Amino acid sequence: MKIDVKNFSASCHCGREHKIHVKEIIIEAGAIDKLPVLLSDIFTGKPEEICILCDDNTYLAAGKLVEEKVKGCKVIKLPSKGLHADNHNVKLAEEQLDGRIKLILAVGAGTIHDISRYLANKRGIPFVSLPTAASVDGFVSTVAAMTWNGLKKTFPAVSPILVVADTNIFSKAPYRLTASGISDLLGKYTALADWEIAHLVTDEYICSKVCELEHKAVDEVCSCLSDLRGNVPEEKRIKAYEQLMYALLLSGIAMQMVGNSRPASGAEHHISHLWEMEVINPPLDAYHGEKVSIGLMIVAETYHMMKEAIRNRQYEIQSYSGLDYMCLKESFGPKGLYEGMLEENKPDPLEQIDIMEFGKLLPKIADILDKLPSVDTINQLLTEAGCKKYVHEIGLDERIISKTICLSPYVRNRLTFMRLTKLIKLL
Ligand SMILES: [Zn+2]
Ligand SMILES: [Zn+2]
Repeated sequence: MKIDVKNFSASCHCGREHKIHVKEIIIEAGAIDKLPVLLSDIFTGKPEEICILCDDNTYLAAGKLVEEKVKGCKVIKLPSKGLHADNHNVKLAEEQLDGRIKLILAVGAGTIHDISRYLANKRGIPFVSLPTAASVDGFVSTVAAMTWNGLKKTFPAVSPILVVADTNIFSKAPYRLTASGISDLLGKYTALADWEIAHLVTDEYICSKVCELEHKAVDEVCSCLSDLRGNVPEEKRIKAYEQLMYALLLSGIAMQMVGNSRPASGAEHHISHLWEMEVINPPLDAYHGEKVSIGLMIVAETYHMMKEAIRNRQYEIQSYSGLDYMCLKESFGPKGLYEGMLEENKPDPLEQIDIMEFGKLLPKIADILDKLPSVDTINQLLTEAGCKKYVHEIGLDERIISKTICLSPYVRNRLTFMRLTKLIKLL
């Protein structure tokens, strides 16, 4: 299947002219066979000016095949053990990326893509995405999430100009990676609720077309969860994988349309980001999506509980007393991240909120939360797909949950309902 990207680049009733950077997306079995022709459409240079960026594992899964298709291209193979999108691996790749290279072919999952999009941006050259697993929704992202000298940072980067997703390749990825992609997508439930609530409370920009697109992406995948790992005929399984990759790319397109990650990242992602900062927990051996789905469960439980309290009038609106300075200093201080957190929270999104007006909006907020699937439904979906749901599954103790709820809203200056709950006191 081919995603007609032009459909998403248009002036919209939201008042914006949506712009998409990716030019072509192909998802099908054997898509790699078309690579030489697709490349000739976008690149007129010589094969030796093209470079495959992969790791040992993804070289075997797809890089070798790509090398055969694009004869004469260069290959950079990063060590797959302990591979992270960090300055160490960027340096490793950069040392081998000679000045003649004019195009990067990213062959891998999220990490290889982040390194590729960072380097492509730095060198001012385009890159092509060849995902080897349906593991994240960030393949067409325009920012690179990197760890720089131990700190998490988001760098400006470029979107691939072309995505060639070969189902024969990404459907054979270890299932844990696929489950992680499903988790990342299901996280959109709370991300979208957060966006709608922020729009209601602060009149933040929102686009209903983009929301629809994200909902469509999630629904499509929910309808084929059992086919992704069940005992179904191969044809049906392949179809489900294509649908998953389609949904992940659609989510990436939604972010391009808006120009940031708002449509795809809310309180559930903030939880994942907090744990990645390793200030209240040890380093975790967990994929992005795994942290997102556990975050999703925590957020969904909190949101539904708050909704019930709103409906039963078991709450009080409390005046805002500023950031939780003590807790922030205690947690982020030892790693030298306290000042950075204060900076991130300027201006404080809660300070601009009129408490009285907010109180009047609560019934409407409850209506938005009504659209969120119940905790049981989310639990069932995650179980069906074999996704992670509880903190103990990634080696964390239950006691981390309350601290996570308190601190995670501060990791990004983006208003979520989780952050707004600081204005609500349960009775
Ligand atoms: Zn729009
Ligand atoms: Zn994500």
